[in-house]
Parts: sequence; structure tokens; C-alpha cells
Amino acid sequence: MSINWLLLGGHQSQKREVIPDQDAQKAEVVTECYCPNGHSVLSDGHKFQGHPGLSLMLKSKTSEGLLIISPVLGDRDRNFVGFERKAGEVVDICCPTCSESFPIYNQCPCGAHLVALFTSPKAHFAQCIGICQRLGCLHSELLSERDLRLYSRQDYL
Ligand SMILES: [Zn+2]
Ligand SMILES: [Zn+2]
Repeated sequence: MSINWLLLGGHQSQKREVIPDQDAQKAEVVTECYCPNGHSVLSDGHKFQGHPGLSLMLKSKTSEGLLIISPVLGDRDRNFVGFERKAGEVVDICCPTCSESFPIYNQCPCGAHLVALFTSPKAHFAQCIGICQRLGCLHSELLSERDLRLYSRQDYL
């Protein structure tokens, strides 16, 4: 047994080793995303960092069009197709296949609502990601399930 090993505390130092956070290790990319009726909204036609984007239909009072957002959580890269956007406007977010609105999950701090996009075809709120309905809101990027749970613990009403 070397002296260095003893000085470092031996087994004790091994116990203090930091266990890496599993969530932090996994690449936070949405690989499955469904509307309440089970249609996949991933679009191979629009890729972000090599991953298929999420294609959503937006409806406002004056315009209707597509929004394709990056599936990488926290990435704000997005494309509007045929949608006349006004910053700050609250829009309806729908499935491009069946036009069903994504359900409201929670209230966003901006006063609009966070809608749930399901990551399982079963459309269960335990497996979803969120996005704010307000164009330009900080939370209009994808929120992970964990972020959504955080919001649901806060009282905005
Ligand atoms: Zn649908
Ligand atoms: Zn918001």
C-alpha cells in the first residue's frame, strides 16, 4: 500500500466521489413528440443540429402558419413558415395534422399559458414538454418535464 494512498484518505475519498447527475449527462433532445391524438409532429424536412424539428401549427386572430422549433431543449432556434408573427402575441398552438390544440398545462409567468406537447403517443401529462403560447416569451422555448413540474409547484393564480 503506498503512502500517497493513505494520505488521500483511501476508501473515504472514494466515497466522496461526486456521482454525476444522470439528467445532466443525457443529451436533452426531443426524439418523440405527439399531439393529443397521437400524431407525431417531428418533421424530417427541417433539421436542427441534425435532429428533426418539431412542426407546430400556429393560429392567431390575423394569421395561420407553421412554426418549426429545434428539438434540443434550451435551443431557441426556430423557423416560421407562412406565419405573420407579432412579438408578444398569444397564439393557439395546434397539431399540423389534425388541427387539435395542444392542451394547456400551466400558466406561464408572462400571463399566457404553457401548453403540453406529449413525448409519448399516450398523451399523458407525466410525459410531456412545454412551450409558452406567447411569441417571444422566454418560455416559448421548449421546457423539459422537470421545468414543467417546477412551474406546477408555483402558485400563479
Ligand atoms: Zn394531431
Ligand atoms: Zn410565457
